[in-house]
Amino acid sequence: MPQRAAVKETFKSMSPSRFFYEYKELAGFSNPARALYQTVRELVENALDATDVHGIKPDIVVVIRRFGEARDKYTVAVLDNGIGIDPKHVPYAFAQVLYSSKYKLRQSRGRFGLGVKMAVLYAQMTTGEPVEVYTSPLGSKRIYYFKLKIDIEKNKPIVLGKGSWSKTNDWHGTLVKITIRGDWQRAGWRIKEYIKRTAIVTPYARIVLITPDGSIAIYPRVIEKVPPGPKEAKPHPHGVDIEMLKYLIKNSKAKTLREFLIESFQGVGRKTADKFLKEAGFDPNLDPHKLNDKMLEKLAAKLKEYKGFRSPSASALSPLGEEVIEAGLKAIFSPEFVTVVTRKPKAYEGHPFIVEVGIAYGGEIPPSSEPILLRYANKIPLLYDEKSDVAWKVVDPNNFDWKQYLVTFPAPLVVLTHICSTKIPYKGVGKESIADVSEIEHELKNAVREAARKLRAYILEKKREQETRRRLITFLKYMPEITRSLAVIAGDGKVSEEQLKEKLVECIVRKLGVPKEHVVKMISSYEVKIEE
Ligand code: ADP
Ligand code: MG
Repeated sequence: MPQRAAVKETFKSMSPSRFFYEYKELAGFSNPARALYQTVRELVENALDATDVHGIKPDIVVVIRRFGEARDKYTVAVLDNGIGIDPKHVPYAFAQVLYSSKYKLRQSRGRFGLGVKMAVLYAQMTTGEPVEVYTSPLGSKRIYYFKLKIDIEKNKPIVLGKGSWSKTNDWHGTLVKITIRGDWQRAGWRIKEYIKRTAIVTPYARIVLITPDGSIAIYPRVIEKVPPGPKEAKPHPHGVDIEMLKYLIKNSKAKTLREFLIESFQGVGRKTADKFLKEAGFDPNLDPHKLNDKMLEKLAAKLKEYKGFRSPSASALSPLGEEVIEAGLKAIFSPEFVTVVTRKPKAYEGHPFIVEVGIAYGGEIPPSSEPILLRYANKIPLLYDEKSDVAWKVVDPNNFDWKQYLVTFPAPLVVLTHICSTKIPYKGVGKESIADVSEIEHELKNAVREAARKLRAYILEKKREQETRRRLITFLKYMPEITRSLAVIAGDGKVSEEQLKEKLVECIVRKLGVPKEHVVKMISSYEVKIEE
């Protein structure tokens, strides 16, 4: 057989911008409808991260309008009253993929340094329009303007225009305008739903949505208090791996291993550091910069498995809290019953997380054949891929015995789940569903059970009341008849009907175990009804 000639392949590297330009579906930009939804979402999430995370009551206006005469082009503009952006970072923050101020151990909606750039890339691909940014950082006296595109091959910003002028009022914040090919017809309802669900968990925000069909939705602020913002945390030793350890050591000035552990990790004091290092077989006075690969591997493994560290701190997290969830569910659904459970902080792989569950029942909630599930992660509503999310796995009537909690479908039941963490295990960069990490699934299950138990108690009490009421009505129906007959039997004037009535009421109170005022009240309303 003749030998085949060698094949000469050519190799090249790909810039992050090019990668996401080619695989935009990964980030949720798979078609014009989804892209419009995703663009609104990325801008709104950035607006919220710039406000409530920093203790500012959000005031956000979202405007979506047709671009020129075209039926498939839309401009999305989002205005916020946040901290603004230092002008020297603006070109990179908006036109360099993987550039972020949120690569920190602190809960925020954004995380990847990708979101707004995906919308800018999509705009470039579909309409060729640049992104426009107006921003005035908190404390600045000026407003800065930028017109930007992304150099896809170099992954660097192209500044097409910029300017600045002094401010005549005290506004601070950011306005971002992006023009993309979109499909309002298909995406409209989802965008409206997304804003509504955002409003449910940010009752301390005022959000206005103006749409191309001319509708204006205003979600007013219903509570004044912004939940305390998250603090930045150091990594937990259980979350460490070899590369991270190398990175931390490189950036540390510590002269000894002991010092390095205390300075670089959360919850490690001198005592814990010494105890750990002794058990792991390391000299506490060793210079961390001198560790070879083998030692680093051993140190990472030992850090991961050591049981003596404190659990990860929850100070980097910002749960919604009972008040916010309750106010949100009440404002949007007008249910007859609401209960909220916030679980204690837990951790997976060294990442702290908190699970919260709210259940709303009855009232104006439309009955449906399965629970209406509102999923949230770090305060972001998740709307797509519900059935592949860990939260659905937990509340799915095929897995969860709702009957045990006296809920039989169709039922008017809303379940809100919120998972907050410094690292949400999303299944993709589009941030739509959460993987079933067993620690999170376990916490969710416990939270839903705990909330469902309270719902059960409520339904039981309601049933009991209804039953009592039914029996009471039966008694009352015959009461006039019985008192009259008894009065006759007892003989003329010996006992008055009033006295007999009094005795009968006492009997009823004893028998049904309900308060006397309750019975008396019912009698009077019942008598009125009969007389009518
Ligand atoms: P991420 O939100 O994951 O950090 P983005 O690409 O969406 O990534 O945003 C990049 C950065 O731009 C953010 O980290 C933030 O610093 C800045 N930014 C974007 N929008 C705003 C805004 N409305 N207000 C303040 N800063 C913003
Ligand atoms: Mg973002």
